[in-house]
Amino acid sequence: MRIHPDTKKAIQFRLLKWFDENKREMPWRETRNPYKIWVSEIMLQQTQVKTVESYYNRFIQAFPTIQSLSMADSGQVMKAWEGLGYYSRARNLHKAAKIIVQCFNAQIPHTLEELLSLPGIGRYTAGAILSIAFDQPAPVLDGNVIRMLSRLFHITDNVDRSSTQKRLWQLTEDMLPKSRIRDFNEAMMELGALVCTPKNPRCEICPVQKHCEATRIGIQQDLPVRTPRNPIPHLDVTAGVIWKADRFLITLRPPKGLLGGLWEFPGGKLEDGESLEECIKREIREELEIKIEVVHPLISVKHAYTHFKITLHVFECRFLSGDIVPHDCDDFRWIRPNELDDFAFPGADRKVIDALKMKEGGVS
Ligand code: SF4
Repeated sequence: MRIHPDTKKAIQFRLLKWFDENKREMPWRETRNPYKIWVSEIMLQQTQVKTVESYYNRFIQAFPTIQSLSMADSGQVMKAWEGLGYYSRARNLHKAAKIIVQCFNAQIPHTLEELLSLPGIGRYTAGAILSIAFDQPAPVLDGNVIRMLSRLFHITDNVDRSSTQKRLWQLTEDMLPKSRIRDFNEAMMELGALVCTPKNPRCEICPVQKHCEATRIGIQQDLPVRTPRNPIPHLDVTAGVIWKADRFLITLRPPKGLLGGLWEFPGGKLEDGESLEECIKREIREELEIKIEVVHPLISVKHAYTHFKITLHVFECRFLSGDIVPHDCDDFRWIRPNELDDFAFPGADRKVIDALKMKEGGVS
């Protein structure tokens, strides 16, 4: 698609002017430090700005430099990320920090090729680091930019197709101005977040409305076109708070996969024809080779992941016999309730911890 040079200039001018007048304050917008920008971009990959702010400040306080992050142990990194979700981001950030310290003299690389060689950095994040930290002419294409460009230039092909993605990357590259690259990229993302929103875009206040083809035709609500999502399946899962005197058992998930590297209350998926009590006893026997007695239900927690939802049925249990032989976990600990905050847990288990803290004592 060829954009007329005058149209391009007008869109660039209007977007930058609007950004100067409307941009939100964000802690990572006050820095040019490539390490801090990289951390913020990884956090923003699947999380909203409002949520990221407090995590970003906490993370940068814990690991102010790339050296400090590279030297941290994985438990400390997971603890600083606890609650933010998509934990592979934290594991990759940690891995990449070690590589940057070892192979790049602790300097964030500033070529596309080098950035793409690092774990957790795809084309969007590389473009964001290059343009925001180094003001290089690198395009960005995130969900906000896809939506805005699809509407502005009336792209009706399915944006999940790789051919459309290629076209959009080309378009966002063609749109880059000669200067103020950082501001321009941020302006496109900001407009998508604040004005060209998924539902009810605020076209009446949009600085590029005059050039917007979808608004002219009146189909802005129908764009972008995406592949419809399958319904999200639901699973019933059990977990046990297994007491032995004044301590209970927590287990460490293997480093790879969903919630990898986080601690949890052991348990597993309900099988067909099984009661919840039978499930927790079977899971503990299979996973840890110990026998338990189910004492009473503690709480049921609903939680949504990207591709499925769960109801986590949690029971307080009593350890009966056996020596732990871990099968599906990397480590285990018998801890006292006052030690819980030393470990990083997934969101669903944090709700269990809140329920435990509301109680006094152990198994009644
Ligand atoms: S005019 Fe409306 S649809 Fe077009 S870019 Fe602006 S907010 Fe989006």
